Amino acid sequence: MSGGVIGVLALQGAVREHLRMLDACGARGRAVKRPSELLDCEGLIIPGGESTAIGLLIMRGGFLEALRETAVKGLPIFGTCAGLIMLARRVTEGSQPLLGLMDMTVRRNAYGRQVDSFEADLRVRGIEDEERPFRAVFIRAPWIEEMGEGVEPLCFHQGRAVLARQGHLLAGAFHPELTDDRRIHRYFLRMVEERKNEA
Ligand code: GLN
Repeated sequence: MSGGVIGVLALQGAVREHLRMLDACGARGRAVKRPSELLDCEGLIIPGGESTAIGLLIMRGGFLEALRETAVKGLPIFGTCAGLIMLARRVTEGSQPLLGLMDMTVRRNAYGRQVDSFEADLRVRGIEDEERPFRAVFIRAPWIEEMGEGVEPLCFHQGRAVLARQGHLLAGAFHPELTDDRRIHRYFLRMVEERKNEA
């Protein structure tokens, strides 16, 4: 895969793992710590971590407006776990800063407190070799509780959507950067290529 830089929002969370995965995919990843660095990016990953912490740091750093603006211009964004929460318009409980870019409601820590993490083999629509299950790692994961018409679910676990796409935005409840399976990152990199070809 050739092309420009894929940013990984580096305020909090699993930044290094995504950079390693991008490298394995042959893409150029770069940690993004300042809003101005978004201008160099052809795509952006918002990693897992703690969505309330990421939200606060986004508010503080002037990132909120910058991210919304670049997203509206069509920057492809892939949010994983806490990143999925950040992309959502609503959470089922409480209030916290969200980017609100995808028309969906998410339930945080949806699998309960007693279930810290688990793995599951899931079918993911649209990735290469899609009949072959993807080993998904869930860590204090959310699920998508409701989504609007423009949001397409790509993967379900126990009847709940856990990966979904809305145009140039992709959100997953699990952590594809923690496995050796590159297919979901490659799917996102294809979205980035598609976007470049449109522009
Ligand atoms: N439970 C975290 C949150 O609500 C997300 C966990 C994760 O990103 N692994 O932000």
